[in-house]
Amino acid sequence: MSTIFADRMENTRKSFIREILKVTQQPEVISFAGGLPNPGLFPVDEVAAAAAKVLSEEGRNALQYSTTEGYLPLREFIAQRYLLKSGLKIDPDEILITNGSQQSIDLIGKVFLNKGDRVVIESPGYLGAIQAFSIFEPEFVEVPLLEDGIDTDQLDRILAGSSGKLFYTVPTFQNPSGITYSRQKREETAKILQRHNIVCVEDNAYWELRFAGEDLPTIRNFSDNTILLGSFSKIIAPGIRMGWICAQGETMEKLLIAKQAADLHSNYLSQRIIYQYLLDNDIDEHILKIKDAYGKRRDLMIGLMEEHFPEGIGYTKPEGGMFVWVTLPEGISSMDLFELAIKENVAFVPGSPFYTRDGMGINTLRLNFSNSDFDKIEEGIKRLAGCLRELNSD
Ligand code: PMP
Repeated sequence: MSTIFADRMENTRKSFIREILKVTQQPEVISFAGGLPNPGLFPVDEVAAAAAKVLSEEGRNALQYSTTEGYLPLREFIAQRYLLKSGLKIDPDEILITNGSQQSIDLIGKVFLNKGDRVVIESPGYLGAIQAFSIFEPEFVEVPLLEDGIDTDQLDRILAGSSGKLFYTVPTFQNPSGITYSRQKREETAKILQRHNIVCVEDNAYWELRFAGEDLPTIRNFSDNTILLGSFSKIIAPGIRMGWICAQGETMEKLLIAKQAADLHSNYLSQRIIYQYLLDNDIDEHILKIKDAYGKRRDLMIGLMEEHFPEGIGYTKPEGGMFVWVTLPEGISSMDLFELAIKENVAFVPGSPFYTRDGMGINTLRLNFSNSDFDKIEEGIKRLAGCLRELNSD
């Protein structure tokens, strides 16, 4: 690598998913690869109406520079929603509007991480967080995910050995596994982190997308030592790039400085448009539509996998979100499956990039069910089953 670039770039990998997406954008490819919401559900007309209203009634204000914290009525709306949905009391001043959760993760990295600091992360973990934190050259420590959340015994043991600065988690409908922490695991995780004085970064990007089972409290409900992240990407549209961080006291002060240094403030026009959209429409009704559509897609995908996949293949049955995690028999590589599948014009993401260490998750893969329509899911899973049989018979 050329020496003109900073050392930190050497340790930061290109997002494998973005690379795959280049291949999968051909129209003939059935893609379960991207983490994309279903565009058929984007409220295009409603956002257009909100934008027109903001520009015609408040255009000069909405096009001006604004505050780093973000538009106060939008922060008040978010705070109110936490109170309503999970009894969380969050002051609007403890909310910072960001350009999506991805920026939230980057800002947290800037504020907390020195080179070599320990970041504890789920295994497998969210690729975007691994990438964003990698820029700050931490030492990643992986803790395996079990069916009901993180392996808390291992978490406790690892932290007892040597503590860390941050624990990053997606406890609800995790990306990539679809796993959700049980209530007990949330409470235990909060207690362990408090005992070892490590900050929890709770990324709740999929929190609102539950289509089965019961709502659960956030980890933040059990511990104030939690930075909670939210996003409009999965409930309105990701192209708007709008999310938020809930943090308190000195942490918020530092985050505001990092945000100011990064981009002064989040896109103010977008904030105003989102707020207008939320005022003029029933977001709960809209979210119900998304949950209904995604729930049906998950049922179809899992049903087809049960019917057509060969014996010995495991998969999660998520109660919400957008992903199913598949585990192939030991010794079978999802990379080999990917090569076969792409020839059949089907794509998914092989599991290895979701681990920070090489050689992990070789026999795993992620399937997205939110983005494809029913006929594509049916055809794609059948083709994938054919490829699996071919691999099995080799
Ligand atoms: N966190 C998780 C767990 C995600 O899956 C994603 C999107 N793939 C993000 C954050 C980024 O979301 P945003 O669009 O809000 O930046």
